[in-house]
Amino acid sequence: MASPFSGVLQLTDLDDFIGPSQDCIKPMKVDKRSGSGVAKIHIEDDGSYFQVTQDGGTRKLEKAKISLDDCLACSGCVTSAETVLITQQSHEELRKVIDANKTAAPGQQKLVVVSVSPQSRASLAAQFGLNPTDTARKLTAFFKKIGVHYVFDTSFSRNFSLLESQREFVQRFRGQAGSQQALPVLASACPGWICYAEKTHGSFLIPYLSTVRSPQQVMGSLVKDFFAQQQRLTPDSIYHVTVMPCYDKKLEASRPDFFSQDYQTRDVDCVVTTGEVFKLLEEEGVSLSELEPAPLDSLCSSVSAQEPSSHRGGGSGGYLEHVFQHAARELFGIHVDEITYRPLRNKDFQEVTLEKEGQIVLHFAAAYGFRNIQNLVQKLKRGRCPYHYVEVMACPAGCLNGGGQLKAPNTPGKELLQRVETLYSMVRTEAPEDAPGIQELYRCWLQGEGSERAGRLLHTSYHAVEKASSSLGIRW
Ligand code: SF4
Repeated sequence: MASPFSGVLQLTDLDDFIGPSQDCIKPMKVDKRSGSGVAKIHIEDDGSYFQVTQDGGTRKLEKAKISLDDCLACSGCVTSAETVLITQQSHEELRKVIDANKTAAPGQQKLVVVSVSPQSRASLAAQFGLNPTDTARKLTAFFKKIGVHYVFDTSFSRNFSLLESQREFVQRFRGQAGSQQALPVLASACPGWICYAEKTHGSFLIPYLSTVRSPQQVMGSLVKDFFAQQQRLTPDSIYHVTVMPCYDKKLEASRPDFFSQDYQTRDVDCVVTTGEVFKLLEEEGVSLSELEPAPLDSLCSSVSAQEPSSHRGGGSGGYLEHVFQHAARELFGIHVDEITYRPLRNKDFQEVTLEKEGQIVLHFAAAYGFRNIQNLVQKLKRGRCPYHYVEVMACPAGCLNGGGQLKAPNTPGKELLQRVETLYSMVRTEAPEDAPGIQELYRCWLQGEGSERAGRLLHTSYHAVEKASSSLGIRW
């Protein structure tokens, strides 16, 4: 890639020198010598960096390499795909597996399963001028045409994420007297936020994080455990791909917590973004609008899906609304029909309260984007966080605005986002406890709500990651 600079670059504030791309906020170690405080960097046409030494000579600077472990998933460099080595997670990998299946001996082939997120579906619907149901059916047709065996919808696995989040909140609220760090519960479905929490605040934020797996990772459990059993296959003979609105989901799928040592396989083998699906369509010379729709697949043989379904509460999953309504009913016997949000500093930081006898008994917030996350963390650190639950998302405006979603060169971003939001909200919603197949799976697959099995397959844990030693601090 051509260097964005040429000639000699003078850096008077080394904290501002971040590499390897202008987008990345991962600090690179720079030899800061005493002296003038000015570092001269010379950049060759081939992109090599040289530091001009005090005696006038030059010293070649090593190129910074970012591995998955280094990455902060800030949606800065991660969205500049060329700067991140996420080679195992691309649409080319999916193509390789499909191609290998064509020549593999019977019994050696992988069963290829694709799980599509509702946010990606809405983005593709906007791109092709389709409604969400047609988009789901035509996407199913496309994937089957190229060699995928089953196409599922992660709205199904989100039912479990929402139900477990409801249960976890009520439990932690009731137990708050016994633990100082039980509240607030901080939602954990966004890997961009989780990565930030683990890498920049040590163990401080971890006790607050919800342990519930995100819809992507619950889908991983469903496909590699439940569905594998149904198909009489071992987990490693299934290749599971998810279609997601951001690159950060690739990092989530790569976490060691979601790797089976017994079968040497991941719950989600490959994550492709909405944009990568679009690339795949282009490479195959297929226009989604022209494809004949195919019937939708269902994970549960007892359930037939005619159209996609979704949940109330906005494009990031509706965690706040579901947990709030459930908690109001369970803890205070109050039925809340409509949620009224009160904007705080900006439209990405809003709060919701429940009052009983003139007292605020539930205080929830939604904090989207790192500016608001930083504000939230400061409140927590100062002991001035009034919230019981916070839906935290790294992207401003949430998941429908994720870094992997499609852009339209001739449509302003705001207008496109509004179109995607409208399409997303056109899908019929249902309460997670009423979704067909969910109660049956709790009974037969998970051996009941709150069981050891449900804990293992629907929850996860977090780990503080040591800060890299560097003289350059990250300023959030
Ligand atoms: S908020 Fe953004 S980074 Fe987080 S899960 Fe949603 S799309 Fe991904």
